[in-house]
Amino acid sequence: MRDADFFRRWMAAAAAAVEREADRLTELDSPIGDADHGSNLLRGFTAVVAAQEAEPAVAPGAVLQLAGRTLISTVGGASGPLYGTLLRRTGKALGESAEVSDAELRAALSEGVGAVAQLGGAAPGDKTMLDALVPGVAALATSYRAAGAAAENGALATVPMLARKGRASYLGERSIGHQDPGATSSALLLEALADVAEAEGAR
Ligand code: ADP
Ligand code: MG
Repeated sequence: MRDADFFRRWMAAAAAAVEREADRLTELDSPIGDADHGSNLLRGFTAVVAAQEAEPAVAPGAVLQLAGRTLISTVGGASGPLYGTLLRRTGKALGESAEVSDAELRAALSEGVGAVAQLGGAAPGDKTMLDALVPGVAALATSYRAAGAAAENGALATVPMLARKGRASYLGERSIGHQDPGATSSALLLEALADVAEAEGAR
């Protein structure tokens, strides 16, 4: 079972990964965007960690809902509301239990990903974060590490895609040949989850 601390560690690990990879995320957002994805997420996840410290939630669902609200209020770009919705909906689906099972987390994340698709109107193949989130969350049935790897492969698979949603879609054919920044950060998020799950397993 996973408690609120586990989810706080996940958010902290995601923030550390975003900090480590911020320059790369912004570089990916240069040819097919406006070069702000790394700085957007760095601002957002730094605020998420600060909010968790200021207002430590006691339930997994509340931790993720606070993280989602914080991302929505601090990230101006498209990715803020989308990641915010992912975490809020996932947190809502987890309910108020003090501990949740891995199966409950998997089901909740599926709902969260569904909410992202609904909000953004995108589907896999449109060269967005969903190209990492959808295969990543599907692979949770195997393991947390498999989910991280599937999301990473999904991000790499966005290179030859034509962008159909978001800023990159304005480029049409010129969006082909570049890796999607949001799919790349989604892989970081699921890899961070795998890291904390493996660290907890070892305890
Ligand atoms: P902005 O595009 O407003 O500058 P960011 O640079 O922070 O915002 O985020 C861009 C990322 O957001 C893209 O790489 C893509 O993965 C994701 N994205 C944009 N629009 C959508 C959408 N409609 N559905 C899903 N993901 C989207
Ligand atoms: Mg951008």
